[in-house]
Amino acid sequence: MTRAGFVACHQWHLLDRYDVLSVARPGATVLLNAPHPPEQVFGHLPREVQEAAIAKSVRLFTIDAAAVAREVGLGSRINVVMQAAFFALSEVIPRAQAIEKIQDTIRKTYERKGPDIVKRNLDAVELALTRIHAVPLPSRATAAHVRPPAVPAAAPDFVRRVTAMMIEGKGDLLPVSAFPPDGTWPTGTARWEKRNLAAEIPIWDPEFCIQCNKCALVCPHAAIRAKVYEPEPLSVAPDGFRSQDFKSRELPGLKYTIQVAPEDCTGCTVCVQVCPGRDRSNPKHKAINMVPQPPLREVESRSFEFFLGIPELDRAQLTPDVKSTQLAQPLFEFSGACAGCGETPYLKLLSQMFGDRLLIANATGCSSIYGGNLPTTPWTTDRDGRGPAWSNSLFEDNAEFGLGLRAGVDAHERHARAALREIAARVGDELAGPLLSGMPATEEGIREGRERVARLRAALAGIDAPAARRLAAIADYLVPKSVWIVGGDGWAYDIGFGGLDHVLATGRKVNVLVLDTEVYSNTGGQQSKATPLAASAKFAAAGKGSPKKDLGLIAMSYGHVYVARVAMGAKDAQTVRAFAEAEAHPGPSLIIAYSPCIAHGYDLAFGPRQSKLAVDSGQWPLYRYDPARDARGEPPLQLDAGKPTVSPLTYMRNEARFRMAEIVDPARFRGLLQAAAQHTAHRVAIYEQLAGIRVGTDVGPPPPAEPEPAPAGKE
Ligand code: SF4
Ligand code: SF4
Ligand code: MG
Repeated sequence: MTRAGFVACHQWHLLDRYDVLSVARPGATVLLNAPHPPEQVFGHLPREVQEAAIAKSVRLFTIDAAAVAREVGLGSRINVVMQAAFFALSEVIPRAQAIEKIQDTIRKTYERKGPDIVKRNLDAVELALTRIHAVPLPSRATAAHVRPPAVPAAAPDFVRRVTAMMIEGKGDLLPVSAFPPDGTWPTGTARWEKRNLAAEIPIWDPEFCIQCNKCALVCPHAAIRAKVYEPEPLSVAPDGFRSQDFKSRELPGLKYTIQVAPEDCTGCTVCVQVCPGRDRSNPKHKAINMVPQPPLREVESRSFEFFLGIPELDRAQLTPDVKSTQLAQPLFEFSGACAGCGETPYLKLLSQMFGDRLLIANATGCSSIYGGNLPTTPWTTDRDGRGPAWSNSLFEDNAEFGLGLRAGVDAHERHARAALREIAARVGDELAGPLLSGMPATEEGIREGRERVARLRAALAGIDAPAARRLAAIADYLVPKSVWIVGGDGWAYDIGFGGLDHVLATGRKVNVLVLDTEVYSNTGGQQSKATPLAASAKFAAAGKGSPKKDLGLIAMSYGHVYVARVAMGAKDAQTVRAFAEAEAHPGPSLIIAYSPCIAHGYDLAFGPRQSKLAVDSGQWPLYRYDPARDARGEPPLQLDAGKPTVSPLTYMRNEARFRMAEIVDPARFRGLLQAAAQHTAHRVAIYEQLAGIRVGTDVGPPPPAEPEPAPAGKE
């Protein structure tokens, strides 16, 4: 049993989720970061925590670390505040000596980020020491409020028995027999883990909404959704549920709602940033506005539950444009990705466009962690229990793994067809004929195909033949599947590149989605070959000296690969178009997606704005290369962004990864900037030739790379 002498809880809401004091020994020191005045802290604790604190006679202390961080200009960064409080209370080394060491470390760690950041952190230490308060323990517990169960009572049996234990951090206590014996894991479990992270959530004001659905598109957590539906369910809507008429000539008489999932929203505000609907008389008031979550939690949760129960629009009625894609149920929801993550909106979009027929091979990296990390799984199913099949493979073999999925699907389809041909006469031509001649991979084609397969299964039950039994097991493979190979830049550009290249060369029909954060995000920000010139990253602290590898151009060189470079925050319609074209292309496709990431060093609420600057400054060209155009005698490459309209420096100055390189070595940074401009011009010249814009011009050799500076102390 753990018997800790010091226990700290840095996030108040975790006291409701975990049995925090179970690890404290009698008389332990307990430090809470609390948003309440010291005299009210005990009263706000859940009853179990109060009882445990009294029973163990702990020394209870509180600090409002968020207020301290805010006051010294550190925003929401409370790490230094809590660190100072820990050393002040724990006495693991003498207090004065500890504080001196923290101050030294701050000076060393933040020196590169500038004197202002150093000062703010030193101020945080000083202020923290004056804001620690002892909380006296009364003789008995007073709270009426108890810790809620880890998952609601309505959760499925497995989630209550197994997932809930893991959510509470007690997974080690589960017996082996609790786990599925075949290694599969139930999907759709993230919806039961209510993280309640957001202090504020977006609330919809229908009066100013233009029904663009951009809020739903960019939300990294599928925590704000749009739905179009028949009016009937509204007669039993709970109080506070909002709706309006859906403005559409094609689908008249329907209702429209934007609804937030209050307990799953992370409060990142990306949705509010992109919302174009606003009150003209008060432009600060938009069609969605951030509002404190706690008073609205219950009423909005009820509204979200009701919203989920309203039948979805038939997918066959949806067209592949931004607005329509967001009317499809997302089958990727509530992942544990960072607030404001720029990767997850692409996966959500993927699930909305091809969701229930997706097979995903996911390389190790951020997307495998938030995509399949226990205890919960964000990939989920629709009302009929259909959803993507997902699995993770290694960094070094994920493309091959995805190719294996494709080969497996194709082999099953071949066997299914052979068996069906064998017994076609007994099944009947009316049923076997259309199944053997194949079906279009459209929503309608797939729905018809599935209905035929259901009828086929019924017919097979009455046929006593080995081919009928074989076919019954694999008949679903007569309906087209969509195979996607997904991963980050560390996988695609570096560690898995050889395999990716091999898979693209095969010409097999697989789609590759690279979530490009331009750095190894999951392992702490090491440079990859996708890191751009002049950006600082681990192993390139003074700014990377070589240009970003042009993965798209390498793939284009085969001639048979569909290639697109997209940035959802800059041009969402181009992203949706690229996804649809990639899936329609008969061979391999590669989509490289600009993905804002915390490693870039800015508030991700502005991810879409920064994506646009990346495009407008020429740092992230948007294009689609379609071999079909080549076959028609047209230039195969289509440039989807105009000539740069802002300087690269305008884009770079917003991100700490570039600012840090400038601070470390300003002269070198100026040189890197120049090199970056030359490389951009060289790359644009190549693209313009492929796009038929620049004909017969010599684009010349690429500029040389800057050597990396030698590590300190070495030649
Ligand atoms: Fe989604 Fe962030 Fe908006 Fe919450 S604040 S609904 S997580 S985009
Ligand atoms: Fe309405 Fe704003 Fe959402 Fe567009 S982004 S649908 S205007 S709330
Ligand atoms: Mg990455």
